Amino acid sequence: MAATGTRVMAEPQERLRFELEVHRRAGLRRWSAPRRGLQTPTATSTPPLTLPGAPLARGIAAALPATAEATDGRRAALRAIELEISTCSKCKLCDYRTKTVPGEGALDPPVLLIGEGPGADEDVSGRPFVGRAGQLLDRMIAAIRLRRDEVFIANIIKCRPPENRPPEPDEVSACAPFLERQIAVLKPRLICTLGLPATRALLPETKTISSVRGKEHEWRGIPLVPTFDPAYLLRNPDAKHDAWADLKLVARLVGRPVDGPS
Ligand code: SF4
Repeated sequence: MAATGTRVMAEPQERLRFELEVHRRAGLRRWSAPRRGLQTPTATSTPPLTLPGAPLARGIAAALPATAEATDGRRAALRAIELEISTCSKCKLCDYRTKTVPGEGALDPPVLLIGEGPGADEDVSGRPFVGRAGQLLDRMIAAIRLRRDEVFIANIIKCRPPENRPPEPDEVSACAPFLERQIAVLKPRLICTLGLPATRALLPETKTISSVRGKEHEWRGIPLVPTFDPAYLLRNPDAKHDAWADLKLVARLVGRPVDGPS
């Protein structure tokens, strides 16, 4: 694109560093040096992504400012994942879905919110958290003075289970690589899991939400705060007090002010 072609880079080292940063922000874990000139990664050139068990790289390159090229790279990488999801048949849930629900939001989110899976409204719309629970989630996001389009919202599975039953372990395992790849591209400052299935997918030892909420955890070097699923909060409003405490922890960890009582 034009911005790449017009950028002046006199030093080979600077050009190499720029190229590496574009690929890093696109979430690419493997890279081959171009034979000549700069190449912006595209959906068709994106290699399969595999996340290592080690923390995500946060070295000198992470301190570089975001560039339009890096944003384009992230968008292309996310779009490539979405396209794969839209035709996925890796588990039996593909037989029940109306639309896949890959997730949506900011390309550089301070917070990645991860829920259990699509419900009826999400299955029809193809968007995450759009029913009554979604409205409550919007208010939870607003409480830490963010908008829905400033965070990223995803689920551990991308297709609706029949009768809204919890996802089964083989379904979570089959779908997990999509979420891992999304996290690798987005590089959120914090992950907030919503409910037990989502929390257990990232923290497998979790027995109950009550045993892990209210505390900071970590997933591959990224701070993680579990809290209740908004759908559960609609059925159990008494738990909103604890959810509010969890949101205040999220806000503190990402440096946001909070609304309401302390
Ligand atoms: S839930 Fe995930 S793994 Fe299963 S069919 Fe849908 S996209 Fe594929």
